[in-house]
Amino acid sequence: MRIGIGYDSHRLVEGRPLIIGGVEIPFGKGLHGHSDADVLCHAIIDALIGALGKGDIGKHFPDTDEKWKGASGIELLSQTVRMLQDEGFEISWIDSTVILQEPKIGGFIEAMKNEMSKAGIPVGSVNIKAKTDEGMGFIGRGEGAAAQAVCLLKRA
Ligand code: MG
Repeated sequence: MRIGIGYDSHRLVEGRPLIIGGVEIPFGKGLHGHSDADVLCHAIIDALIGALGKGDIGKHFPDTDEKWKGASGIELLSQTVRMLQDEGFEISWIDSTVILQEPKIGGFIEAMKNEMSKAGIPVGSVNIKAKTDEGMGFIGRGEGAAAQAVCLLKRA
């Protein structure tokens, strides 16, 4: 068994789509980044890579590489799942939290799980929680969003 922990945050800016867990959520702003800035997928990817003991997301998908410009979080997640399978592991469980002041995203969680299943994470192996920061700090002021994830891997 291996455990991993992941964290990510991105700035909310105008003129970008808001993509979280592979789902485009209607809102006037989106997360800024080299890729699609899918904060939830990135946190889960870091948890999975951490459990494999293989560094972090920046090592495998560097934001200085044009190859990953605009890359979807789901695609990166899919490649990460393939990597852990190649290492002889499978996902036992993932738990995650998205922290975002606005908009409310609770209604999109099932759709996010569906998108993640396309990347090889079974719907029954992942939990997604959503919360605000009660108006405090950069998240509370609507300047950005963050996500946390933990995972448990087992030998396949
Ligand atoms: Mg990120």
